[in-house]
Amino acid sequence: MPARREKSLGRPERLAATLNLDASVARVPGVSSARTSALAKMGITTVRDLLAHYPRRYLDMSHVVTVADAPIGALVTVSGTVHEVKLKKPRPRLTLTEITVVDATGVLVVTCFRQPWLADRLHAGDALAVAGKVEFNYGFKRMTNPFLEPLEEGASAVGMVVPVHPATERMPTAQIRRLVSAALDLCEGMYDPLPLELRMKYRLPSRLAAMRAVHEPHHMEDVQAARRRLAYEELLMLELHLLMRSRNAAQDAQATAHRTDGPHLARFREALPFELTEEQQRAARELLQGMAQQHCVKHMLLGDVGTGKTVVAAHALCAVADTGTQAFMMAPTEVLARQYEKSLGPLLDQAGVTWETVTGSTPAREREAVLERAAAGTVDVLFGTQALLEDDVRTPCCSLVVIDEQQRFGVAQREALVRKGVAPDVLTMTATPIPRSLALAIYGDSTLSYLTVRPRNRAGNTTRVLDRSSQGVAYDAACEALREGRQVYVVCPLVGSPADGKEDEEPSGRAYGEEAYEYGVIVIEDGEMPDEDLKAASAQARFLQAKVFPDFKVGLLHGKMSGEEKREVMERFRAGDVRVLVATTVIEVGVDVPNATVMIVEDAERFGLAQLHQLRGRVGRGDHPGSVFLVSGSRAPAALERLAVMERTEDGFAVAESDLALRREGDILGNRQHGASTLKLVNVVRDRAIVEAAHADALDVLAEDPEMDMPAHRALAREVRMLFARCEDKKD
Ligand code: ADP
Ligand code: MG
Repeated sequence: MPARREKSLGRPERLAATLNLDASVARVPGVSSARTSALAKMGITTVRDLLAHYPRRYLDMSHVVTVADAPIGALVTVSGTVHEVKLKKPRPRLTLTEITVVDATGVLVVTCFRQPWLADRLHAGDALAVAGKVEFNYGFKRMTNPFLEPLEEGASAVGMVVPVHPATERMPTAQIRRLVSAALDLCEGMYDPLPLELRMKYRLPSRLAAMRAVHEPHHMEDVQAARRRLAYEELLMLELHLLMRSRNAAQDAQATAHRTDGPHLARFREALPFELTEEQQRAARELLQGMAQQHCVKHMLLGDVGTGKTVVAAHALCAVADTGTQAFMMAPTEVLARQYEKSLGPLLDQAGVTWETVTGSTPAREREAVLERAAAGTVDVLFGTQALLEDDVRTPCCSLVVIDEQQRFGVAQREALVRKGVAPDVLTMTATPIPRSLALAIYGDSTLSYLTVRPRNRAGNTTRVLDRSSQGVAYDAACEALREGRQVYVVCPLVGSPADGKEDEEPSGRAYGEEAYEYGVIVIEDGEMPDEDLKAASAQARFLQAKVFPDFKVGLLHGKMSGEEKREVMERFRAGDVRVLVATTVIEVGVDVPNATVMIVEDAERFGLAQLHQLRGRVGRGDHPGSVFLVSGSRAPAALERLAVMERTEDGFAVAESDLALRREGDILGNRQHGASTLKLVNVVRDRAIVEAAHADALDVLAEDPEMDMPAHRALAREVRMLFARCEDKKD
């Protein structure tokens, strides 16, 4: 920590400093009305917002290199003097600013595209820090579109760290730095909302010291400790908020303590045609434990497609029948709702549990009869789609609501179903791979059970990453499988796909939940298929037919085919007439070909990991284990390192976690649920331990002091209220 002593102030001053946090940002000296509106555009309206506007990165000037020492290809910071600034217009709509920077050892030529204003801002003689990748061209070391930071007079002293706050054109980072500094002064002496006990437990610096260190560090080490403290605080507050919000004494008084040792459940267990996996047993136990309690519980069941979530949920349905109350179970599609009838119906029948299904296509007469029985309470379980949300769907005492594939429903839909119950317990199920630390952070008020193994796919797959020069290994394995009578997929990416030519950059992974995840279809690449891609795919198919698999029929499936043509090819593949399927666009999940055991993915680095994981689920579906080969011509270590994750794990959730770990912090919570947007400094993968600690501490605090009105918790309670008041307003 910087050796800055916090002033000792009296109570009134400390209180005033604390209240300043939620004052308008206009209170900060230096914030004019023009600046107030510029800040508002950045989402900053209070002093608290300004202080939570953390630097995106830091220029560590203690590690500045000279131009002469800057290694070509490396990311470095160079500090020097502007020698000349030239504005050029090589093409009508293209401007570039060329800045020549010199230091004692040499000349660095900096080129910035489309930032003409730089020519007004920078002048010969200015001190400037430049951070970026060093290139060498036409006799000079160069940087293209680097990060530029004008340095104040004498600021190039060794040991200085320059914070870089997210900025806009009207509010440049140097300006923000000054305002943040004034805001910190305004809050000098503010109360620390973290109880002393927790600060001691983890040896955390005070809030003000941490904020100063993050915004105005002297050394990079200061930032780490400070970030830990602030991340912990963000998480603790989010967990407290979630737990307090979902706890409701009035509701609990009405809640049902379910019977979990009744005859229906016992008969259901006997009727099961298979043995539950250990994970399924544990999940069912955790679920029933919660349901037995006399308050509303939320439980979340997470597991990849095929891990057997439905049968776990059925335990809860039977407990409801044993209790004499009713349950709703909602699926996002008619197909899924009908699947319950097929997979659970007979088991529930044997257990003596009555059930009905209501969907949009239920004929009016039948619907009326079903709803009448439901209203009379003679139906234990109502399966259905969104059709369950209609006003006339009622039961006398629904004590459990099950929402399958919960990510497919909106908040309003989920809440509408919950409102149909009498203080019901809620079970949500999802196949979206949300790693535990992320789920804890954003669903902190739910208990979680994970299913990781597929009970019916024990054969499993092995995955190997191959360099292009060793792709013969994959072809050999494919030929061997073909000779044994099995089938092969070869998947090609589109030539013009977005990752093209950017292989040393981070994957452009999409946020979880966004992934096109239609039941039945994996979208590998969507949209128009350029002609060159079609040519490349056709050429690949011809090459494979002629040179690699001359003895076996090769088929091609691509995006320019009509639905009819696609179905025909898939049909021939399923029938075993086509033995090798070269696919560029879609593989339908519904077309399950258990005889396919080898998959070769070409240019695998162009796919997201989650996508690759879905793809490889197409093989190894029968009794024979699958072999997946990820072939890559990329020489970028990062690309291969990323793919290597697929070799190490079969678990879709672990894959997703690696994908998350590779993202930048800001992108982590693509899923901006309720309060999660208050997590500004948290990376749920890197900060996993902090997430777990904050979750446990929040539970402890509330167990000891449910209303948080003990003196030690009052400041914390106030902070949680202030922080989330606005989020709640905005909630959809
Ligand atoms: P999901 O988790 O995708 O909802 P399902 O519940 O639909 O998965 O289960 C997938 C398939 O696995 C179903 O056909 C189901 O009957 C079967 N299944 C579930 N549990 C087991 C088990 N323990 N042993 C064998 N098959 C199982
Ligand atoms: Mg399911």
